[in-house]
Amino acid sequence: MSLFDRSERATPGALIEARRRIGWEDSRSSLLDWYRKTGRSLPWREDLSPYRVWVSEIMLQQTTVATVVGYFDRFMSRFPDVGSLAAAPVEQVLKSWEGLGYYQRARNLQKAAREIVGRGGFPENLETWMALPGVGRSTAGAICSIALGLETPILDANVRRVQRRFLHAMDPGSPDEGLLWESSTRFVTGAGDPGLVNQALMEVGATVCLPRSPRCVDCPFSRQCLTLTLGLSDALPARKKTSRPLRVRTVLVPPGRRTVWLLKNECGRLMEGLWDFLSRPGPPGHFPDEPGWSGRHLGTVEHVYSHFREEVHVFEIDPGGSGGLSEETSRVSTVSLPDSARYPLTGVARKILAFLSELDRGENR
Ligand code: SF4
Repeated sequence: MSLFDRSERATPGALIEARRRIGWEDSRSSLLDWYRKTGRSLPWREDLSPYRVWVSEIMLQQTTVATVVGYFDRFMSRFPDVGSLAAAPVEQVLKSWEGLGYYQRARNLQKAAREIVGRGGFPENLETWMALPGVGRSTAGAICSIALGLETPILDANVRRVQRRFLHAMDPGSPDEGLLWESSTRFVTGAGDPGLVNQALMEVGATVCLPRSPRCVDCPFSRQCLTLTLGLSDALPARKKTSRPLRVRTVLVPPGRRTVWLLKNECGRLMEGLWDFLSRPGPPGHFPDEPGWSGRHLGTVEHVYSHFREEVHVFEIDPGGSGGLSEETSRVSTVSLPDSARYPLTGVARKILAFLSELDRGENR
């Protein structure tokens, strides 16, 4: 039977047979040899305690290693153990997370820290780790294998891509989920050090099996990967283009710009507890509630979130005698520019602060 059908795709029967013949021992030993030679030295790989592994795995969700490297040691100095994290005011935790994004992770991390302190110690198996806020199956698998030596598989976004290519299971959303988990399970089953195997799989996804241009010549799976060995590398999945809708708003800054008006987000899964500038939806000149206000447009700041882009107009405004800041007055804090840096701010608020400082420096030159 030919491996390929008329469209040069592997036939389903040929793929099943090719997957059946995968040499798992051989694949794992290539992986570990490669990782021992080329694995990066990263701060969270130095001491594999449950606390450090857990914090690093949460930080690495949806965030690159390069970004996390700049945060991990600082976070560990600020919160050296689970007790200090549990006892800290949430604002301090959010402040230490500032710039990492996806702040729900920080809130969940602290909720979980309080649960761990409450139960008197870290969980000792996959199920109890998964019961903590913010810990899914793959994160729990990583923690249990790396910190506890359990044979628990992982399937984060990077490893999922590696497994898809390794098995040539390229159809996203297809019922291949079980197949991918099974492959991850085979890698750790019987491994002397399942944590090392999982770290090596993550390393392949982060450094070699890249989304756009996989570096197959440097890959430890170059002899086993079905997409490569079946000659199907043209079928490597293209990255889906994401189009992010644009939102426009106008941030209001007091006259003189020595102070700023800040508001704390009271709700919203992503931004709860973070502070942002007082603003109005839409571009300047469209404020329905402040007809007496006068001001000037200072510039525009852009920010990209995972699901939308934001265009923020910065507007210096004098509310004069028109009744001030309307309904938000009681929630607005007037804060001096230097003090504002001590608040846990949204990413876009930090950009606006930087913009105002730059503007100030330019005007004082
Ligand atoms: S051989 Fe290429 S496609 Fe296959 S896992 Fe390695 S880098 Fe990815």
